[in-house]
Amino acid sequence: MLDIQRIREDFPILDHQIYGKPLIYFDNSATTQKPREVVEKIESGYYNVNANIHRGVHFLSQAATEAHEEARRTVQAFLNARSSNEIIFTRGTTESINLVSSTFADACMSAGDEVIVSVMEHHSNIVPWQIQAARKGIALKVIPMNERGELDMEAYRGLFSERTRLVSVAHVSNVLGTINPVRELTAIAHEHGVPVLVDGAQAIPHLKVDVQDIDAEFYVFSGHKVYGPTGIGVLYGKEEWLDRLPPYQGGGEMIATVSFEKTTFNELPFKFEAGTPDYIGSTALAEALRYVDRLGMDQIAAYEDDLLRYATERLEKIEGTRIFGKAARKGAVISFLVGTIHHYDMGMLLDRLGIAVRTGHHCAQPLMHALGIEGTVRASFSFYNTKEEIDAFVAGVERVRKMF
Ligand code: PMP
Repeated sequence: MLDIQRIREDFPILDHQIYGKPLIYFDNSATTQKPREVVEKIESGYYNVNANIHRGVHFLSQAATEAHEEARRTVQAFLNARSSNEIIFTRGTTESINLVSSTFADACMSAGDEVIVSVMEHHSNIVPWQIQAARKGIALKVIPMNERGELDMEAYRGLFSERTRLVSVAHVSNVLGTINPVRELTAIAHEHGVPVLVDGAQAIPHLKVDVQDIDAEFYVFSGHKVYGPTGIGVLYGKEEWLDRLPPYQGGGEMIATVSFEKTTFNELPFKFEAGTPDYIGSTALAEALRYVDRLGMDQIAAYEDDLLRYATERLEKIEGTRIFGKAARKGAVISFLVGTIHHYDMGMLLDRLGIAVRTGHHCAQPLMHALGIEGTVRASFSFYNTKEEIDAFVAGVERVRKMF
């Protein structure tokens, strides 16, 4: 069992008052709050081990290099990747997907080839492919969903053709909360000899992820959604695939030799880490992963599931409430509308009660289109949230409903 009151002490921001009310932070899908350990790691990194990495013979540079590479091994262990060469540090999910879409399109795609995505993708797993579509003349095919917000697996099977080159899908939807069956999606793609990218942005904070078990060729996530700092994220890629892809950006660190006639590229993982990496961010991310590991991913998932069930039952009782996303397997996210109250009004009025929720299209406009709405109110939970906070939130929603 998690000791939530103890855990909350690790997150000083949770003690804040907003408009004189205790902060209730239910915007965890957008970004999570940071425990002391993570913030202190950043501070102590700059105070004690700050020197540019990989290039120095001096003590501090070697210490900073070792810390960055140790962080890589921590991510490797967290994901159960085969090798630390398979862990590339990026700025986040968005950059990781752009890296793969750009290099994969260059190396493996030509006009008429196809990428399969799903109807519930975040814009960051749609737009990079559209940019490649415009550059290369490739096409996007879209997996539809049922009324509960679960992917239609039969339709998915039917989307494959001899031109399918990649499947790129979210592990967990940031709007519906649906936990997609990524192992099965991957196995089906592999029957067709097609590699898979999984957008793990919303899965990593909530579920135990084992990349060897999922068996996708690429898995990406952002540090800031898993209690780590902003500006750092991860691209996991199977070594043979990362070897096959060309460099994404050119610069220092990603080269072996450079002359004006010819450059040869560095080995993995450095081939994809041009320039000075965020070596302070990587160590703070590793600290965040150690933090959630200590709590236990299974424990976190069980507690957040309990919060989700409780909040869903209570919210459903409010007259006129519609919840979007009722998948059998669901992350701790509730997207909803109440009657004809605009999501923006609901969000503004909840804010006045100290309750932080997100409103709008959640960077998933095609999904909003499929649902026939413009936006939702989204409450997303973390292990530091409580049932008392959910009670206050439900009372707030009810109060807003009565006002309209
Ligand atoms: N994919 C999903 C499913 C997300 O929820 C998000 C963030 N909302 C992203 C991608 C983009 O993450 P980032 O902005 O950290 O790159």
